Amino acid sequence: MAQSFEMNCNKMVEEQLKTRSIKSNAVLEAMNNVPRHLFVPKKLQNFAYSDSPLPIGMGQTISQPYIVAFMTEQLELMPGMKILEIGTGSGYQAAILAYLGCEVYTIELLKELADEAKKNLAALNFNTKVKHGNGYMGWPEEAPFDAIIVTAAPNYIPEKLIEQLKDGGRMIIPVGEVHSVQLLKLITKKDKKNIEKNLFSVMFVPMVE
Ligand code: SAH
Repeated sequence: MAQSFEMNCNKMVEEQLKTRSIKSNAVLEAMNNVPRHLFVPKKLQNFAYSDSPLPIGMGQTISQPYIVAFMTEQLELMPGMKILEIGTGSGYQAAILAYLGCEVYTIELLKELADEAKKNLAALNFNTKVKHGNGYMGWPEEAPFDAIIVTAAPNYIPEKLIEQLKDGGRMIIPVGEVHSVQLLKLITKKDKKNIEKNLFSVMFVPMVE
């Protein structure tokens, strides 16, 4: 990483993640090593490590670093796990998951973003499969998954995604109405039942039907 970006990245980890609730060394290390500036438009690269989401084109956003780290930590990932992400966007979240040694499958509704993310992830040699498609369907051919991370907000929990989660698996998902505040939920599938934990309020772009 170029030196100035590396400094901003270290600073992001120190000031935005460690001082808040992020404890997992693996997650902190991933956030410290994945070059976030390579996942945002060129003209915004100098803002890549700031404490906020950023526009990535087509009305979509890359999530705030803290939210990426928090959601990742909640999944309690181990190397080798098979993970499904809904809403590839820039590909940054997928890169973090891949850095942790997971096998990552990610679905993006907008072709232009899917293509761009695919290119960026391949250039950095991250082990990810990007599909252009509708996240509500999940990825049945590759199911079941150890964990699912949804980075766009539906207003209900999509049944197909629950079906594609392993028993004991975790799913993190923001649920709520379009253009309002949503509730970030952690769902654990146990003996065909879902244990739901409400975390905190968030604002994501809508998960389009
Ligand atoms: N995880 C991304 C940020 C996601 S923004 C990152 O790290 O950059 C949410 C993304 O979800 C947008 O790119 C949007 O196009 C996509 N999206 C919205 N509805 C979707 C759907 N039904 N299926 C798949 N992707 C969807």
